[in-house]
Formats: sequence, structure tokens, C-alpha cells
Amino acid sequence: MKLYEFEGKDVFRRMGIATPDGEPVGDASEIGAAAERIGCPVVIKAQLQRGGRGKSGLVRFAQSIEEAEAIARELLGTKVGEETITTLLVEKKLDIHRELYAGITFDYAANGPALLFSCLGGVDIESSASDPEGALRKLPLDPYHPPEIHQILNLCKQAGLSGPALRPAAETIRKLVSCYFHHDALTAEINPLVIDGNGRVYAADSKMELDDSAAFRRDPSLRAGDEEEKSDPYEADAMSQGLAYVRLGSGNIGVIAGGAGLCMASMDMVAAAGGKPANFLDLGGGVSREKTAAALRMVLKTPGVEGVLMNVFGGINNCEVMANGIADVVHADSPRIPIVVKMRGHSQDEGWEILEKIGIPIVKYGTTEEAVSMLMAAVGRR
Ligand code: GDP
Ligand code: MN
Repeated sequence: MKLYEFEGKDVFRRMGIATPDGEPVGDASEIGAAAERIGCPVVIKAQLQRGGRGKSGLVRFAQSIEEAEAIARELLGTKVGEETITTLLVEKKLDIHRELYAGITFDYAANGPALLFSCLGGVDIESSASDPEGALRKLPLDPYHPPEIHQILNLCKQAGLSGPALRPAAETIRKLVSCYFHHDALTAEINPLVIDGNGRVYAADSKMELDDSAAFRRDPSLRAGDEEEKSDPYEADAMSQGLAYVRLGSGNIGVIAGGAGLCMASMDMVAAAGGKPANFLDLGGGVSREKTAAALRMVLKTPGVEGVLMNVFGGINNCEVMANGIADVVHADSPRIPIVVKMRGHSQDEGWEILEKIGIPIVKYGTTEEAVSMLMAAVGRR
């Protein structure tokens, strides 16, 4: 689950990381009072999951309450990609002296989390990674032995930070490390980590992603995470039914397979045959008739789907059970779009018989490529 900036900053504050005074606002009529409490000038920031707001005019400054109100009226309700701006964060505008970068993320090469630091924070951090002066410095993290303050001080010094801001910056970064482990985060990033005109250090932005595998022990004061996926209602729906489903935007071929590897291989073959996978759906093991039916219905209702490829192997799963699930959907919903099934394994004869009775084309002994070309031909005929 990704936290919005204002949620991440709540977490930061509770861990002792300084953030500018501010509050989230959901209605333009509330922003005047908020700006008055905080005191102008204020910064007004669209709360979106995507980054790069600074470069796309979604971080604004207001000198007066009237200006803040005008900005709020302009931004609230605006669509940005797939998201709509429903919340703004209004904060005291910082007097920025320097922008640093501090972030923790999983380093797959090192098989563990790593702390990254750069003196060139702000909106251009990606390009500064190749700049020798702004080179990101990396410190691998051991969850059982969090770094000592001297290690973080060294990291910051190596990256070129010196002067009175060095120690408070390092102390803030150490709290960020605690925050990362305490909240089972996958990412915890402050960009920019600001040094203001008085040498004080503030987290001016927050990017936090929490590991959903640890949701059961998540701090109950945090958002539960169920509404997060609402940006894609289909994925939210699939999740509530216990289906491993990912939607892929503009595809035309629905894919259901048994096992993530087989599913991805099937998607590749669909793409190679000129189709565009509309989704990923791994049926997994221990599949019931009901779950097969739910999976097929999920894919059939995915927007843009013109044909469905079902590629399953009866290893742990039973082909007869899965075929019954497909038959249930065909009987109840009479789907009009072509479905091709490649099904082999445990109880295959029983499964094939059920599918043959309802007129679903099956690939019995052939390859996935054959199933895909059969499906593409059927889609092309429509
Ligand atoms: P992002 O672009 O989505 O990551 O949004 P940020 O929260 O990082 O803001 C982008 C940029 O806006 C920052 O790098 C700053 O340069 C600027 N900015 C954000 N807050 C303030 C502020 O309080 N005062 C000033 N002067 N600049 C700010
Ligand atoms: Mn940022």
C-alpha cells in the first residue's frame, strides 16, 4: 500500500521527523481557514500517488488566502492520468536553503534494504544519479543491526554534506531508517529533505510504500489499505474475491493460467501472435469450481476483452472441477466472446468432455501457441 504524502508525513511526525506545519483539505471552502491557521505564504500540494508533481504544476504557492482559494478551486476535482485530485495538503511554505535526498528501498542486487543519500535532492534526483557530484551514496541496511549515527554521518559526508546541517540531517535519516523497519515499509523516501534558512531540517515530501504481506500487524491508526486499489476498481473487485489478478490497460485478450510462470508465458505468446494481454490472472492451486467461475467472470468483464485464453494444468488442480466452473459461467451468462481452453492433467478426460458438451474449443495434446492462434483466429472472425 502506498501512502499519500500527508499520510506519510503523519507517520514521519510520530517517529520524530520534522515536517512543515500543515493539514489536508478536501474542499475548496476549507482551505481559507487552513491557510489562516498555518499562516501565509503556504504551499498547496495535490495528493496523488504519482510523483513529479513539482514539474507538472501540482505544487503551488499562495501569498494570500484568496490566492489559496483560487488554487484549490482549480486543482480539486482535476483528473491527472487515472487519478482525480480529491485532497490537497496545505503547508507553511519553507524557506528552502538546500534540497537533499534520502531514501530507503529494497536493493535486489544485495538481497536487502539499502539507504541512499544524495546532496542533490529535489525534482531532478533521477538525472543527478549520473552526475559524479550528486552521485547517490549507498549504505546496505541490516534489519537486526540498524546503522549507528556515525555510519550515517559518514555516508552524508562522502556524498559531500558538511557544516552545521550535517548532524541534524543524519539524525533525521536515522529516524527514517527506524520508520522503515517499524512500519514494514518497502520504500521510505524523503525528497527533498530540506535545510531551511535557519539550518533546520524538514521532510518536505514523503513517499512511503508499506508491505501488504505485513498488513496483519500494521499500525491500526494507519489506513487499512482496502481503498487504495480503488484507482482500479477491477483489481479491487478481484482482490475481494481472492483472485491474483492484475489489469493491463489497453489489452484485448484475457488470460487465465495456472501458475504465475505459465500465465506470463501465455501472455508473451498472446503478444507474439499479435494480441495484447488485457490482464494477468493466476488461478493458483486448490482451485474450486466457484473460483474458476469467478476468475472467468472477472476476465470476461475486463474492459476491452475480445477473447479469453485459459491455459491450465491439472497438477494440484482437477481439470473436471475447473471445466465445471467454466460450464457454470457459459450456462448462466452465455458469454458472446470466444474462449479457448488448453487443459491437461489430472481428470483431463472428464474435463474435456464437459467442455466439448458446451462447445468450448479445447487444445488437448497441442501447445499453447496452438491455443493462442486458435483464439486469435476466432477473435479475427468476429
Ligand atoms: P514531487 O515533485 O511530487 O516529488 O513534489 P515535492 O513535494 O517533492 O515538491 C517538488 C518541489 O517543490 C520541491 O523539490 C521543492 O523545490 C518545491 N517545494 C515543495 N515544498 C516547498 C516549500 O515549502 N517551499 C519551497 N520554496 N519550495 C517547495
Ligand atoms: Mn518529491
